Amino acid sequence: MAYKYIDNYREQGARKKLVELLKVKGIEDEEVLKAIGKVPRHFFFDETFWNQAYRDIAFPIGEGQTISQPYTVAYQTQLLHIKKGDKVLEIGTGCGYQTCILLELGAKVYTIERQEKLYERTIQVLPRMGYKPEFFLGDGSKGIANQAPYDKIIVTAGAPTVPDVLLSQLNIGGILVIPVGDESTQKMVTVLKVGENDYEKIVLDTFRFVPLVGEKAW
Ligand code: SAH
Repeated sequence: MAYKYIDNYREQGARKKLVELLKVKGIEDEEVLKAIGKVPRHFFFDETFWNQAYRDIAFPIGEGQTISQPYTVAYQTQLLHIKKGDKVLEIGTGCGYQTCILLELGAKVYTIERQEKLYERTIQVLPRMGYKPEFFLGDGSKGIANQAPYDKIIVTAGAPTVPDVLLSQLNIGGILVIPVGDESTQKMVTVLKVGENDYEKIVLDTFRFVPLVGEKAW
């Protein structure tokens, strides 16, 4: 796909309006809003669909997968409480939009995708946009043990349960954000690791994600 990396006034204006909309919808974290205001989401779309890029909707990205809805990206990111330098594992790279938001917040990002075609596309696109996470191809439902521990883990696909193995790869004080439910809807779950075997779990709002497919998932 021939991408044209042009961020013109029309797209910048649409992006500002998206940020305003996310505020109205309840996103309060200024740093997260700033990041959404910065990342050119239309770069992930074919030019034909640029008029869709700043609507608050998910959109197909190929291989039966979607670029997450901006509200969902902002919601999950806000729950992670990213500090500059945090080591973050992202499970479900997809097109890499969420990855860019995490990088804008100053995180060091390890991101894993199971679908080779998406992986191949994203490892080309992100560096061209100036975003440089560590990319991995494989089943992220097991985490990435040889890069652990992480300060934060974000799962961007819906899981049947919270995989224990992900909790074991968190630092004390670390946070896991993961949508958990059945194939049609999931509740957002955050787990704070307070001690080696001590966790505080909070169940939040309902969302609809594509399934997390793997050994510790569907
Ligand atoms: N983060 C993306 C959303 C991608 S949708 C964004 O910003 O738009 C979820 C992604 O998770 C899909 O690309 C899907 O292929 C991937 N996925 C599903 N199960 C996975 C697994 N076990 N390991 C890694 N990636 C997985």
